[in-house]
Amino acid sequence: MTRYQVAVVRYEKPMESVRRAVNLCDGLAGLKVGDRVFIKPNIVFWTASVPFPKWGVITTSRVVADMVTILAERGITDITIGEGMVLFDPKDTKTALQAFEGLGYNELGRRYGVKCIDVHQRPFEKVDLGDGVVLSFNKDFLESDFVVDIPVMKTHAQTKVSLGIKNLKGLINMSSRKKCHAADLERDLDFMVAKLANPMPRSFTIIDGIYTAERGPGFDGKMHRTNCLVACRDVLAADMVAAKVLGYEPADVPHLVHAARLRSRTMDLSDVEVVGDGIDQFAFPHQYTFPYNEDSTLPIQLERMGIKGLSYPKYDNTICTYCSSLTGLILTSIAMAWKGEPWGNVEVLTGKRMVPTPGKKTILLGKCLWDMHKNHPDIQNMIPIKTCPPSPKAIVRALNDVGIEVSSHIFDHMDMAPGYFMRKYENKPEFEESLFKVE
Ligand code: SF4
Repeated sequence: MTRYQVAVVRYEKPMESVRRAVNLCDGLAGLKVGDRVFIKPNIVFWTASVPFPKWGVITTSRVVADMVTILAERGITDITIGEGMVLFDPKDTKTALQAFEGLGYNELGRRYGVKCIDVHQRPFEKVDLGDGVVLSFNKDFLESDFVVDIPVMKTHAQTKVSLGIKNLKGLINMSSRKKCHAADLERDLDFMVAKLANPMPRSFTIIDGIYTAERGPGFDGKMHRTNCLVACRDVLAADMVAAKVLGYEPADVPHLVHAARLRSRTMDLSDVEVVGDGIDQFAFPHQYTFPYNEDSTLPIQLERMGIKGLSYPKYDNTICTYCSSLTGLILTSIAMAWKGEPWGNVEVLTGKRMVPTPGKKTILLGKCLWDMHKNHPDIQNMIPIKTCPPSPKAIVRALNDVGIEVSSHIFDHMDMAPGYFMRKYENKPEFEESLFKVE
């Protein structure tokens, strides 16, 4: 039986810790001078408008820079860093460039000739992943000789954990991403995500757990300084070990179960040899989801405020990029609009599966629900937001129409909102901004 060596290493020092992780699992075995190497960090989000929390959200530049240096020491000269960030405006070409500059990747370009690409601006190629699933992947990734996958060690509100396999979702085009959040109960998000590593060339995964995230994947989660690196030449083995660090049995993470089945692998880690510092000293439970009330109709925080007359059912795994990135803002704007007077039997539906309740004022968020329910007989009072991405102005109008007087201010300044989360990190020296720079 093949045994997969997974290095679990305490992050202590620049260069030394990443080098130890690479060496312990022989991570770059088979890499040759002349190979084209593609590095996939995790940059979920970026704004140049305000400082915002990157801990547990974005791969540290420290680990990226150390990996680039190690590759350069091995004689690798053709290195590309590629990411397809979540952008609210599909035509936005500036934000990715600002992220690459802000994270110091351009300095790696000056030192080592590293190229940075926004995959949204590059060609895609359709890949048949089996079971009739065809997704479009970035060609630079597909055509590379070797991939270094550097996700953040984080939880995810829909897939429980987001690690090496899930990190590859940033390399498919927008329509493929939407396809992953299918309404089909069997061929759902977990089923799709499990296939993302199928077309990956030879690879090395190093999971950056200097910071780990509860209730990820965004900046509104709860972050921890965990100082853990998990590394392996096999992405599934790395993910299963990192899931345990986050407090999850791999068998309880549906996309890892699907991925193991695809490869005829076991879930009990009997084919894994952990080398280095061991899992136990790092592992602790990380919640993956924001708490909702008992019948999942309101986030617990809104219920505790006493909000009445509104049902905002808990998101499911069919809600995708644009709608999900608006959810936090919508809920915040609703909380700010609450004046203690019950609203009039309103429901806000999201994703691609929710069905209307007779007798309610039903707000449909996004094109998917509009297409699905525009002729639904149970909706007497329909307030649709018909586009994808949903228009912030239409959201404000819809909520105002049902008597929820949200202000447009928060939507007009969406890029500023992440800055408010910085307060949580004041006077906490373990949250170092310098780890997201290349000095
Ligand atoms: S409307 Fe929302 S759920 Fe539908 S594809 Fe667009 S982002 Fe996804």
